[in-house]
Amino acid sequence: MSKSYEFIDHYHDVIVVGAGGAGLRATLGMAEQGLKTACITKVFPTRSHTVAAQGGIAASLQNMTPDSWQWHMYDTVKGSDWLGDNDAMEYMVREAPDAVYELEHYGVPFSRNEEGKIYQRPFGGHMQNYGEGPPVQRTCAVADRTGHAILHALYGQSLRHNAKFFIEYFALDLLMDDDGRCTGVIAWNLDDGTIHRFNAKMVVLATGGYGRTYFSATSAHTCTGDGNGMVARAGLPLQDMEFVQFHPTGVYGAGVLITEGARGEGGYLTNSEGERFMERYAPSAKDLASRDVVSRCMTLEIREGRGVGPKKDHIYLNLNHLDPEVLAERLPGISESAKIFAGVDLTRDPIPVIPTAHYNMGGIPTNYWGEVLNPTVKDPNRKVEGLMAVGECASASVHGANRLGSNSLIDLVVFGRAAAIRAGKIIDRDSAIPLSDEKRSEAVIARFDKLRHANGSITTATLRGRMQHTMQEDAAVFREQASLESGCRRMDENWAAMGDLKVSDRSMVWNSDLVETLELENLMACAITTVYGAEARKESRGAHAREDYTGGKFSGRDDKNWRKHTLARVNEKGKVKLSYTPVRTKLLSDGIDEKKIAPKARVY
Ligand SMILES: Cc1cc2nc3c(=O)[nH]c(=O)nc-3n(C[C@H](O)[C@H](O)[C@H](O)COP(=O)(O)OP(=O)(O)OC[C@H]3O[C@@H](n4cnc5c(N)ncnc54)[C@H](O)[C@@H]3O)c2cc1C
Repeated sequence: MSKSYEFIDHYHDVIVVGAGGAGLRATLGMAEQGLKTACITKVFPTRSHTVAAQGGIAASLQNMTPDSWQWHMYDTVKGSDWLGDNDAMEYMVREAPDAVYELEHYGVPFSRNEEGKIYQRPFGGHMQNYGEGPPVQRTCAVADRTGHAILHALYGQSLRHNAKFFIEYFALDLLMDDDGRCTGVIAWNLDDGTIHRFNAKMVVLATGGYGRTYFSATSAHTCTGDGNGMVARAGLPLQDMEFVQFHPTGVYGAGVLITEGARGEGGYLTNSEGERFMERYAPSAKDLASRDVVSRCMTLEIREGRGVGPKKDHIYLNLNHLDPEVLAERLPGISESAKIFAGVDLTRDPIPVIPTAHYNMGGIPTNYWGEVLNPTVKDPNRKVEGLMAVGECASASVHGANRLGSNSLIDLVVFGRAAAIRAGKIIDRDSAIPLSDEKRSEAVIARFDKLRHANGSITTATLRGRMQHTMQEDAAVFREQASLESGCRRMDENWAAMGDLKVSDRSMVWNSDLVETLELENLMACAITTVYGAEARKESRGAHAREDYTGGKFSGRDDKNWRKHTLARVNEKGKVKLSYTPVRTKLLSDGIDEKKIAPKARVY
């Protein structure tokens, strides 16, 4: 069966999988040092999800208000709800200003203040004076197109340094040798159907998040956790997958983000009874309570049968009472999104919205150099040779249980760069590029071929819908023992149904049916580890807020038993095995007083 496939072999020092902000920064850094580097990407580089990032990128430049890396560190530690690793967080906030200036020199046209310096705006959770306030202006931006500008600059620079790009190539699986070392990756050229074997001394995964495990996600349809899936199939663990950030107002169905600014301008939420229910839950802040609180209240209303629409599964955001001129002036983008994605004229009708998956804090465990870890009890720092991971697919961990806005873009460039610095040091330029094992390569192709010819009774779209509804209903914002147990059971069924998939298109050229099926397998690994990790974690921390754990001095957070990372392994039968590894509390320097960042309640 698999004999009909031929490998086209390539040899490089480094293969980067993914061309978002993280992958491009790594690619550029590797190529700059003269390493023979290639970047494989399933979409054109500047169409990666990073392109959608508007808000900006955090660094303590002090261009607008006093600031310091120590304050940025404090905010990041607190934001993470004390699940982030101190060494990685310290590295990120200390390197952030240099990483931003580097972007500026690469050609990112940052917005300017009156002095001509990089403009910085305030952002949620970023404060002066170790959280005491007032808010700090720390977030650098290129108007509302920050991610777009970063991708264009980094792609251009990578080409200038002769990095090679394999565009619209879909990476299938990692090649691992018998010693557990990664020696390359196999990819499918979507455009002509050829199969390519990329042999390399170092593989860097930069495949982004897995927002699409949920019915409603702000992320692109391509955010399917492919790198995480490949890692899981290699028998390696995924870390802290239960921590998923939700934004209260994504457009129902499309998931496109409606900014918090809409409620800032006076917008309010209503249920099927036309009630402004937020007044009941948060009498003073009402519709402007924090993101996680609003998301949880909306979910409670839906669960109690007061959702709107034929399925009673969403909520209305009302803006039609506002002056049309104000809407046109202050929220032009939102007016357009509502029209295009919900078919709604918001001067007349409410926008259907739903809490929407926005960011994945968990992912492939790494140290702060981007080197992938396969921790054991004896050696929590055990490395997987030849493999790195950076960006949203990785968990370094700088975001812990909850990410602050504008801290992801800085994560991408700081750790993309760190991975390149590290690879420059550890790659032996004179050594031979490892050759891939034929048997291993055949096994990768056998899986591909099996899916290509899958001839069961469930289409990929049907099963994906089931998985997305399972996750949205049982493992999204509202979490308690019963819902999470139901989620585990339903995900077991969904996993089993993978054996009964039907793929109708058998061709090798632009077979989107098969692409989506491969993506679904990756999503399944992400979804099942998310729900099992969440069921097991008997506390509330950051984005993992459980209705059945709310007591104690930290409102449900249990540092004694649960200040630790979850490691989840899943085998081919869908059996999830959980273990735990300690949070890294050791700092890199004595530049910050340890007492300043000691655990306490996370209140804003
Ligand atoms: C709407 C939105 C707004 C946001 N705004 C902000 C913000 O203002 N500030 C902030 O800090 N963060 C923001 N975030 C978060 C941040 O943008 C993301 O976390 C970040 O862009 C992820 O970057 P990445 O490089 O890890 O992955 P991505 O940009 O998602 O890129 C993934 C890459 O991997 C490739 N790939 C994936 N699978 C495969 C495969 N199988 N084979 C080959 N290639 C593959 C893709 O082609 C792509 O090039 C926002 C996120 C969203 C969704």
